[in-house]
Amino acid sequence: MTPELLPCPHCGNAYPAVGYDSDMRALGRELCITARCRQCGAETRKCDNAKEAAELWNRRAPLSPAVLAELPEVRALVAAETERCAKAASDAVEAVCLRDPMPSVGRVLERIAAAIREART
Ligand SMILES: [Zn+2]
Repeated sequence: MTPELLPCPHCGNAYPAVGYDSDMRALGRELCITARCRQCGAETRKCDNAKEAAELWNRRAPLSPAVLAELPEVRALVAAETERCAKAASDAVEAVCLRDPMPSVGRVLERIAAAIREART
């Protein structure tokens, strides 16, 4: 029987999963199984079966209390940064379109990239 997976030791996601490696399936090769966190991408090496993947996952070191305590703050910083970049990109598109109602896609993308670079500095 496959053991229940412990929360992700990297991000605290309570729902990691065991699954087949889709690349290997697409290539028609022997299926490999990994335990993986869809939230942060942490993954075990490829295993022969679900039980092995789950046991390997559960052997990972848990997050320290100090790191766990900082997670909400880190998530808030990432959310704020994401929001700032999205606003900068939106403002850049609006500014380009005000100057030229039919801007090229390349021009719009240049302005978005520049606005995001500026917002991050
Ligand atoms: Zn994770």
